[in-house]
Amino acid sequence: MFKAPRGTSDTLPDEQPYWRYIQNKALEVCRLYGYSCISTPAFEDAGLFARGVGEGTDIVNKEMYVFKDRSDNELALRPEGTASVCRSYIEHGMDNLPQPVKLFYFADIFRYERPQAGRYRQHHQFGCEAIGDASPMLDAEVIHMALGFFTSLGLVNFSLQLNSIGCRKCRPGHLQKLKDYYAPLAPQLCGDCQVRLDKNPLRLLDCKKPGCQAAADEAPRSSDYLCDECGQHFTSLQNYLSALGVKYALNHRLVRGLDYYTRTVFEIQPAEGGSQSALGGGGRYDDLIATIGGRPTPAIGFATGMERIVLNLVSQSVNVPAAEKPAVFIACMGRDACVQSVKLAAALREAGTAVISSSGERSLKAQLRHANAAGAKYTAIIGEDEVKAGVVMLRNMQTSEQQQMPPDELLKLAGSVQ
Ligand code: AMP
Repeated sequence: MFKAPRGTSDTLPDEQPYWRYIQNKALEVCRLYGYSCISTPAFEDAGLFARGVGEGTDIVNKEMYVFKDRSDNELALRPEGTASVCRSYIEHGMDNLPQPVKLFYFADIFRYERPQAGRYRQHHQFGCEAIGDASPMLDAEVIHMALGFFTSLGLVNFSLQLNSIGCRKCRPGHLQKLKDYYAPLAPQLCGDCQVRLDKNPLRLLDCKKPGCQAAADEAPRSSDYLCDECGQHFTSLQNYLSALGVKYALNHRLVRGLDYYTRTVFEIQPAEGGSQSALGGGGRYDDLIATIGGRPTPAIGFATGMERIVLNLVSQSVNVPAAEKPAVFIACMGRDACVQSVKLAAALREAGTAVISSSGERSLKAQLRHANAAGAKYTAIIGEDEVKAGVVMLRNMQTSEQQQMPPDELLKLAGSVQ
């Protein structure tokens, strides 16, 4: 028996109302903040992510699905959405448009992770990117948008964690302080952190292993080593957030797992679930576009995992609109009745009424059971007697009342039974 690959899952019809609900709320928030939709390929040149996301990151080193196609091109299933959007921004000359260019996407994301609740090898993100503006006003707007999105979903009790990790100019000073601080502690660190100490010291701060957490709590803070420009940017962002009434917690251990971030980083955490269960996160990536071949272009973005949102909607018992049920089920008995059934189904659909029709090979009782299970409001019953009389029997599935009528009359009613 084949099964969905480990870490992947099918989203069955029963779960679809959650997804549609999230997508509709996302579309609404994008409308309010002026974002346009973009779709990019599910795979890209692997070098785009190696260069953009960073060779020293877990996502590129350990988690990326890399493969060669039949022409020996090295490709990767996208392990995140931002690099692809930036590649597209450069490729299509979007720097000629009024800046910032605001884009959103729904994308499936592939990471070879250890599957667990809320962590999968294929997951789906809703993400937004605002490209071409360095102002902290934009950082505040993106954060406000992310929070507004979760609020509009009916979720409560989430918190905003905020940090600034500086820029190319001031970060080396902080990294050196981190190395100096961690060097004598190296023997106590986990294996991954011993490698990070050398390759990616910033990531020492967000190690989840208990033995490393105590050391990280006391480690030098990036916010203490910001250059004047980064310091002003961070202060200004906090002023905008305060003006918007946004509550946030400064978290000096928040660094995020991708190398491209500069200055602002943020995460939205649900009340339950701990630090591994972020609902969403994002930050500024002012160097990314130049790193992958464009002109230096500041930008900021945000992404959230659809599966994580569904988990939170379920655990917080948020009601989402149910899937629409068919208005009419057509049950038929006998060959002539089935011919009438297909004609009636076609005419009803043309009038905009959703119809399920039965093939007529089962008893009326079985067909009515099917109509009930499908949630139909009415069943139009056509048997030999109805064919002879040129009528259909319309049954109200809630009250079980039945009424004979010519098909034309049912069609006139179609508008009111949608
Ligand atoms: P990231 O691209 O790592 O910043 O992730 C953005 C958001 O996507 C996270 O906050 C999660 O909501 C979600 N996410 C990330 N990785 C996974 C995963 N492996 N499985 C499910 N959701 C994920």
